[in-house]
Amino acid sequence: MKNKAEILVIYTGGTIGMVEDPETGTLNPFNFQHLTAQIPEIKKFGFRIESISFDPVIDSSNIHPDVWVRLATIIEEQYENYDGFVILHGSDTMAYTASALSFMLENLSKPVILTGSQLPLGMIRTDGKENFITSLEIAAAKKDGKALVPEVCIFFEFQLYRGNRTHKYNAEHFEAFRSVNYPILAKAGVEIKYDFSAIHYSSNQEFRIFTELDINIAVLKLFPGISQQVVSSTLSIPGIKAIILETFGSGNAPSDVWFINELEAAIRRGIIVYNVTQCRGGSVNMGRYETSIGLQSIGVVSGHDITIESALTKMMYLLGHNYSPRILKKYLETSLRGEITVI
Ligand code: ASP
Repeated sequence: MKNKAEILVIYTGGTIGMVEDPETGTLNPFNFQHLTAQIPEIKKFGFRIESISFDPVIDSSNIHPDVWVRLATIIEEQYENYDGFVILHGSDTMAYTASALSFMLENLSKPVILTGSQLPLGMIRTDGKENFITSLEIAAAKKDGKALVPEVCIFFEFQLYRGNRTHKYNAEHFEAFRSVNYPILAKAGVEIKYDFSAIHYSSNQEFRIFTELDINIAVLKLFPGISQQVVSSTLSIPGIKAIILETFGSGNAPSDVWFINELEAAIRRGIIVYNVTQCRGGSVNMGRYETSIGLQSIGVVSGHDITIESALTKMMYLLGHNYSPRILKKYLETSLRGEITVI
């Protein structure tokens, strides 16, 4: 039996992978072929660490579902060769990538930890070193031969989050992510303390990936004064299959007759309307207020306490299966990877 943990690091891009050229002072992408030479501390783990670097690397604002397919495919191809995976990624869209992968990697039994940083690895005050080193440790962590955290996670600033519950909430602070509706999976202090009751352990079914994402989706964010023209043109985008309706509070929307009529007509045309709250904490509860009863009665689907990042990627994943509207709605209201709290 092997005694060394084996970790694959996949570097997609983002701030973390920059180092300062000692001569010119400019920031250049880090050479991941010489990982241990550049961060000698990680040798002390005694792990076998290998890396794959995207070429060219991408700022995470340029992330596209094709990149998620590429990441899922790398993980599938290398699944048996490693104990865990660390993905280095820009923080801007990291919550989307983590959410997407949580759906695409089916029956996952190994850790997939996404991390990055607000300051490049090459800068003295970087948060990247701690984020990276602890992510490696978590990706390698096992008990009785089984991974401690067999989930797609984000590790950032001492905290491990379920990826599909996160959003980036701060563009400056090292603590850039939040998971408002789900507990932190682990905290890294003097020791890494895991909350085992919050971590999901999947059944022993065979790992596989799903890559047929369907991007025929739009987000319609409500605001006081939204016009019929905006609503109607969004709902009539050619080829559109689902609308994420970003509602107020616990899933509320204007009660104007034209508004409900537009949505009802779209639902009759087969468009799925998915109610996701603009609030970062709490849940949609249609029927609680009069301003959501109309939505409920025309067949709008509740997003419960899902994040917008998870709602979008879950919809892409489910639409890709070509399910009937009835089955699709059932899965939207079911927790597939711990992304919603269904009471
Ligand atoms: N713009 C960068 C990105 O998301 C920021 C970061 O790496 O945190 O790729």
